[in-house]
Amino acid sequence: MKEIKPFSKKVWLSSPTMHGDELKYMEEAYNTNWMSTVGANINEVEKIVCEKTGSKYAVALSSGTSALHLAIKLAGIKAGDRVFCSDLTFIATVNPVLYEHATPIFIDTEYDTWNMDPDMLEKAFLLYPDVKLVVVANLYGTPAKLDKIKEICKKHNAILVEDAAESLGATYKGKQTGTFGDYNCISFNGNKIITGSSGGMLLTDSKEAAEKAKKWSTQAKENVNWYEHTMIGYNYRMSNVIAGVVRGQLNYLEEHIALKKAIYERYKEGFKDLPIQMNPIDLVNSEPNYWLSCMIINSDVDVTPQCLLEALNNINAEGRHLWKPMHLQPLFKDNIFVSNEDSDVGTDLFKRGICLPSDIKMTIDEQEIIIETIKSCF
Ligand SMILES: *Cc1c(COP(=O)(O)O)cnc(C)c1O
Repeated sequence: MKEIKPFSKKVWLSSPTMHGDELKYMEEAYNTNWMSTVGANINEVEKIVCEKTGSKYAVALSSGTSALHLAIKLAGIKAGDRVFCSDLTFIATVNPVLYEHATPIFIDTEYDTWNMDPDMLEKAFLLYPDVKLVVVANLYGTPAKLDKIKEICKKHNAILVEDAAESLGATYKGKQTGTFGDYNCISFNGNKIITGSSGGMLLTDSKEAAEKAKKWSTQAKENVNWYEHTMIGYNYRMSNVIAGVVRGQLNYLEEHIALKKAIYERYKEGFKDLPIQMNPIDLVNSEPNYWLSCMIINSDVDVTPQCLLEALNNINAEGRHLWKPMHLQPLFKDNIFVSNEDSDVGTDLFKRGICLPSDIKMTIDEQEIIIETIKSCF
């Protein structure tokens, strides 16, 4: 095997890609002295996100996690309530449930989309018919079977919160993700497809919910001319400087998706003779945003994710394990996990999968070297 030289500049999993417009809007915030959680950039990003997603209202917040927290509160979740949650996801999907002292019940994953299995959600409602909230995530930019999940929620009178932190710009049956739930979250964290360095948004079609979320996010001050408070509040509002970065980025969402898609397709083509599967993209029903390209090694093959990650690391490229399922986390050792008998899809995917370098600044040459490196492991 010929020796591959490490990249002199690291190829990242998914790092921020700036275009220059961000600086213009940040400067505008500075020059107009709106260095605050009020200002034109905030108003503008809320408007643009509504236009792009079709959501009626958007509330700009300090993170996707704070958006999820307010979504859980809008759903009326109280201490001790049980909440059905995606199992294979980043813990940020679930932490807000804990902030409200409620108890997540984890729903197993389907191979079709790597998201919450609607059949397991049905099963969970049979076991726990009193549950009033479902939190579903769209992993790696691929939408869950959102119509089915929505239908099941409706049938059981449950509220749906959609965690679209990873899937901004992806559509399911022609409709943008982040608009299927009663309350939805997107994220502008540094590794997401559009970034503000940090930041997030709550999306909803309910004017009342949007107004509540905005009030809660600014310490829940009553509308009188002294400081009057009747309820708990938070300091969750987005900064106008951060909003400037987001504002500059949002014009590039479609371009970023196209670049991510090309990366996915090059991997798929490059690996076509390997005993692996790429992360599923259900093109009949959805158009993903291709945020991360991932792969799982066929179960009859003696190659481990660890060995692929080491090979990537050796050439100065960043890969990662798939999200580790929530029901395997020590934090949730006592929580219920609903799956098919003798089956645990989330664990199976976790044990066989990795996220590949998916940075849109990666060159075709670099990606070809990455593909060769992975191939040499088999
Ligand atoms: C990134 C992410 C979040 C949280 O977003 P932050 O802006 O980092 O708080 C929530 N859920 C998922 C699935 C994510 O990937």
